[in-house]
Amino acid sequence: MTGDGAVDRRAQIAAGLASVQGRIAAACARAGRDPADVRLVVITKTHPASDVRLLADLGVTDVGENRDQEAAPKHAACADLPLAWHFVGQLQRNKARSVARYADAVHSVDRVALAAALGRGAREAGRTVDCLVQVSLDPGWWTGGAPPEGRGGAAPGELPAVADAIAAEEGLRLAGLMAVAPLDGDAEEAFARLADLATALRRDHPGADWMSAGMSGDLEEAVAAGATHVRVGSAVLGARPPLR
Ligand SMILES: *Cc1c(COP(=O)(O)O)cnc(C)c1O
Repeated sequence: MTGDGAVDRRAQIAAGLASVQGRIAAACARAGRDPADVRLVVITKTHPASDVRLLADLGVTDVGENRDQEAAPKHAACADLPLAWHFVGQLQRNKARSVARYADAVHSVDRVALAAALGRGAREAGRTVDCLVQVSLDPGWWTGGAPPEGRGGAAPGELPAVADAIAAEEGLRLAGLMAVAPLDGDAEEAFARLADLATALRRDHPGADWMSAGMSGDLEEAVAAGATHVRVGSAVLGARPPLR
């Protein structure tokens, strides 16, 4: 049963996807990079499982969610699809066990205690979960200005300890770094700092070669800085309903 609404939604998503793939290809061309080295993770938060199904049908391989309460049932409804599931939101320790059951990658590990909880969950589930350290790119860390408040992430100085904690957990693989550009900052400058942190991390952990950066508004800057994973929601799926 395919009503016009369903046909329209598929066409809408296909158009959003083509546009974002075009932007990634153009940014790669400018940076002299191979588009195959940039993975598109479509962030499906607030959108229904039926959209995830359409994405898979349109060739998307990676989807991302930011709340366990929403992600767990959506994953269960889509378990038959050949998709990698990325968890990208702030994570409470008491949700780590649930997330470790379905997430292939967790981009938002920002403290040692969370690495330990995810490790326990992964071992219990008999799974291996790719983990990224989320680092805060607030300019205050570099300029010594006001203590940053904010969008989550470990302080740059805490990054080595969180990375070591992940690497030490059986069941977790240290995959790399993730960040969100500061709200009112310069994305280009922020992602250049992230690239420096990623280079430093690889000296201690050569396999940690993912850099997850870039969203609908700043994926070009992220690709230019070397992002291997871009996390794009609204530019593919349309505006999200406002949070209540
Ligand atoms: C929602 C979200 C995104 C996608 O944001 P868009 O602006 O819709 O592309 C990316 N990363 C994280 C961590 C998010 O929570």
